[in-house]
Amino acid sequence: MCMNLRRFCSCGRNSAYLSCRDNLLPAEILVNLFCPECRPGSIIEATMLADCGWVLEYDVDRAQAYFTIKGIRSPATPDFVFDAGYLSWQGLAPGDQEVNTRLHQRLAPLIEQDLALYLQSLRSEWVAHVARLKAAGWRKAQAT
Ligand SMILES: [Zn+2]
Repeated sequence: MCMNLRRFCSCGRNSAYLSCRDNLLPAEILVNLFCPECRPGSIIEATMLADCGWVLEYDVDRAQAYFTIKGIRSPATPDFVFDAGYLSWQGLAPGDQEVNTRLHQRLAPLIEQDLALYLQSLRSEWVAHVARLKAAGWRKAQAT
C-alpha cells in the first residue's frame, strides 16, 4: 500500500505526500524525489518529471513491467505515470495534505457557531488555494 505516503526529498529538507492509483506501482518506483533546493541541474526526460521546481525520478523499466502485467497499454513514461496518478502528488501539489489539514484546523471553531458558513468558507478557501496552484504552474492544477 502506498496510500497517504509521505516521502522526504533527497536532501531531507522537504517532503511530499504521494498517492498511488489502484496501488498498482510500489513506492520504490519513485527512485528519487528532489525538492527545489536539491533538484539536479538538468532533467533526464526519459526518467524524470519536473513540477514547479520539484523533480520526480522514476524507475520506468520496472513501472513498465507492472503496466505490462496489468494490461495497461500506455508506455510507462514519467509523464504518464504522473498524469494518470499511478505515482503522483496526493492532491495537486506536494504540500496539499498539510494545507488541507491547516485549513480544517483554522476553520474548526466555526463548526459550532455556523455550520453553513464553515462549509462555505472551507469550499471558497480551497477554491482559492487551487487557483493559486494553477497560477503558479503546478502540473496537476492545470487540469482542474
Ligand atoms: Zn530537497
